[in-house]
Amino acid sequence: MDWELKKELKDQLAREEGYYRYAAGTRERFALVYPNSYFVGMSNLGLHIIYDLLNRRAGTACERFFLPEKKKIARYENTKTPLMSLENQTPLADFPVIGFAVSFEMDYFNVVRILELGHVKVRAVERGERDPLVIAGGPCATFNPEPLSAVVDAFIIGEGEVILPAFMDAYDAAKAEGATREELLRRLAQVPGVYVPALYEHHYDADGRIADIVPLSGAPEHVSRQWVKNLDEWPAHTVVVTEDTEFNLYLIETARGCGRHCRFCMAGYCFRVPRNRSLDVINEEVRDALQYKKRIGLMGAAISDYPEIDALCKDILGEGLSMSVASFRADSVTQELVESLAKSGLQTLTMAPEAGSKKMRAVINKGIEEEHLFHSMDLGIAAGIPNYRLYLMIGLPFEEEEDIDAIIDLANRLKDYMEAHGAKGRLTLSINPFIPKPFTPFQWKPMCDKKTVEQRLKRIEQSLRRRKHIHIIAESPRESYVQGVLSRGDRRVADVLVRACELGGAKAFKRAMKEAGLDPLFYLSRERTEDEIFPWERLDMGFRKAYLYQELEKAAALERTIPCFAGCHRCGVC
Ligand code: SF4
Ligand code: SF4
Repeated sequence: MDWELKKELKDQLAREEGYYRYAAGTRERFALVYPNSYFVGMSNLGLHIIYDLLNRRAGTACERFFLPEKKKIARYENTKTPLMSLENQTPLADFPVIGFAVSFEMDYFNVVRILELGHVKVRAVERGERDPLVIAGGPCATFNPEPLSAVVDAFIIGEGEVILPAFMDAYDAAKAEGATREELLRRLAQVPGVYVPALYEHHYDADGRIADIVPLSGAPEHVSRQWVKNLDEWPAHTVVVTEDTEFNLYLIETARGCGRHCRFCMAGYCFRVPRNRSLDVINEEVRDALQYKKRIGLMGAAISDYPEIDALCKDILGEGLSMSVASFRADSVTQELVESLAKSGLQTLTMAPEAGSKKMRAVINKGIEEEHLFHSMDLGIAAGIPNYRLYLMIGLPFEEEEDIDAIIDLANRLKDYMEAHGAKGRLTLSINPFIPKPFTPFQWKPMCDKKTVEQRLKRIEQSLRRRKHIHIIAESPRESYVQGVLSRGDRRVADVLVRACELGGAKAFKRAMKEAGLDPLFYLSRERTEDEIFPWERLDMGFRKAYLYQELEKAAALERTIPCFAGCHRCGVC
């Protein structure tokens, strides 16, 4: 045991305000794990929401775990010190329930790593009656849980606020009755929004495609996503305040879900229907934040779509606080919002056209046109914001070489406009390879091959190289392809994930695929037929598969889909 590691956790806790700490033995323990560093995890609003929810529950003490920094991992391993919680420095294996909040596919490797560091058996099938129950929630792990199904016993499908209380009640009742692990899992599978992968058998055809998914032991045919109907009943804001975090902000969620129907966006489909929190409730949260004197970080899928955004900006600045936003849409941005961000010290205005050409923006149904970008830039320049950033994707379905030319042309024209209007700062293009996601119309489409993506990226870089103050940031295509397999991977990929971790992590993923006799291109480059059975077929997000396919056909035909509206019943969610 390295006692210094224990002391470092205590020191970390001492730098926080707002944490819960119950004396050992007074409540049933729940380990809440963010599979990345403390620095990253403490900026995740979902983690704060679940931490608060569980600690307010009578009889539960929720304690946090994070992935230690690289050099600390070696100390844990060399001294055989088990990973410990922040609050009471209790070893991970001593918690009866371990819950992972997973936001990104690449963090799946860290899920395995953390279990190893916590001396918890990694494979779900190897865990016995005395071992912890491992559960997971959060966006990508719950839209396609299969790549984690070798490791996780049960998944939370949807929003934790409405699933976890019933889950914990079922867990407590089963434990009180002395249920075996198998019986416990069967009972948890009856809780709405809980998916127990061991209760579904996957069968494959001769070509390796899923032929059937069979529910066992009375498991539900489909697991329906559960979601909060009235956000005002569940205020969502930072609970534990610390300086040691990626975005040093006090986060407040204004809205959840998005009704814009961008065809590449998993969040847009899986958090339907769009819901707003009332201004009164948000203002109460703003007043609570006053004591911490932090900048307010407004969270929501598209902040500028919040109907009372101008009033909210005025209220925040009126309280003497500053503000920041996760993102806004260039077609709904207001002068008040841009001025408030500028007064708060914003130096870079970020816009997300996602594509350079009108055609590609029609394919993805983004709804942002060039005039919106120039108008946003006008607002930014008038407010004194010097730098601009564009989020773009390459390798989208139906993309052609002229769509890459359009990105280069758009960047040049926006930079010309900045210079002509006195904005002397930098234009940054943040370019990511497109990864098709489950539960979107592009779930049927192949991911663009690596060589083409690299060539297109190179062409953009070379064409803009000589242009002063245009800066390009691109995600590594190599990592995107691992992410691509994990995104639409099936149960066989779960074993590959565990094996890759034994071999050294993400960099060993290709080797582990080969060992398992799996071809990455089967997951990445295959055009799926309309009737493909997807690994996530037993999950029900509320909308029909046929609706998604219709959206794919509309993408090919460059047809527009209008946003959600009151009284609409199009997709099946409402
Ligand atoms: S505006 Fe489009 S990309 Fe943004 S959250 Fe909504 S659906 Fe997703
Ligand atoms: S039914 Fe209509 S309003 Fe409701 S989520 Fe679907 S598209 Fe949006």
